[in-house]
Amino acid sequence: MRRESAKPSVPASSVPAVAQAPPASPSAASDDDDDESEEEYSNRNVQAVVLGDEYEFDAWYDCPVLYELVPDFHVGHMIDYLFVCNRCFKHSIAGYTMAAHLIACKGTFETPGQLVYQNNQYSIRMVDGAAYKLFCQCLCIFAKLFLDTKSILFAVDRFEFYVAFHHTAPNVEQAVGFFSKEKISFDEYNLACILVFPPFQHLGIGHLLIDFSYQLSILDGVLGSPERPLSERGRATYLRYWAASIVRAITPLVTSGRQPRAMTPFALSIDDISRATGIRQDDVIDALRSMDALVKLTSTVTPAKDGLDALNAAAQDDGSWAISSPALDRWSASHAQQLAWMMWIDINSIML
Ligand SMILES: [Zn+2]
Repeated sequence: MRRESAKPSVPASSVPAVAQAPPASPSAASDDDDDESEEEYSNRNVQAVVLGDEYEFDAWYDCPVLYELVPDFHVGHMIDYLFVCNRCFKHSIAGYTMAAHLIACKGTFETPGQLVYQNNQYSIRMVDGAAYKLFCQCLCIFAKLFLDTKSILFAVDRFEFYVAFHHTAPNVEQAVGFFSKEKISFDEYNLACILVFPPFQHLGIGHLLIDFSYQLSILDGVLGSPERPLSERGRATYLRYWAASIVRAITPLVTSGRQPRAMTPFALSIDDISRATGIRQDDVIDALRSMDALVKLTSTVTPAKDGLDALNAAAQDDGSWAISSPALDRWSASHAQQLAWMMWIDINSIML
């Protein structure tokens, strides 16, 4: 069995759920954080999780509902091991019970939902919370062990769950993470909570899932955004995704001198970037600021004089801001490795 130290990198919060310390919301425990934290997650009632018969890793957060679901489990007590089925996500505190379940489940369990995406390594299935209520509830209870602020564990009917699977061998797949999304969001939120299971973090799966959530919004013809508020960890995760998306969308335009027909010659506005990436305007501005790529124009700082690429136009209504191409280049250079292994969804490959 693989034992993971599974300590969340960076303590801190949930974005749309990215596993880490105190998140805001969407809760997020994703996978591409760089920092490591020695923070002890003392506020938890499960020491370690055994997923299937292969993965063992620490739990991060308290899951109070287990006091109601596990016989003779009382507040203040700690379970050493929670055994979780890696197919249906039912749990047990007894290893022998789970061992028997795993054998039975392997023979009878059918992966729920509709296949909506597949590449040579991963697939994503859309699981309707109303149609597969028990599966989604079990998934949420498992996720609560890694998402501090996750609150919806049973009322799953109004959510869709997009579950990522890793193809470990021909005809063998392992669930590695998921995100949830409200079926109807009047704020056009495209993601409520996201979790990449601890053994599978730092593989780019969180980025893949976030990109998928954006492609769904593009298919719906809206500019999506994750549910607010974002935790610190969630915000950091999204800033990286937004920045990478902007660089990916802009770089070919700038280097080739070509621009989409919709763009005015020699002008690339925040709206243009938003249309090219599917990212909401305020999120685009947030990302550009995080990249130090928004430059205030003054009488002494102008695009012509200071080499700010004239292709990059005003970012705000008053036209007093410009996007700095050199800053985008610097960001790209310092994130070259990350950019190289990021997986992007081809919108034409989505099977919806
Ligand atoms: Zn099972």
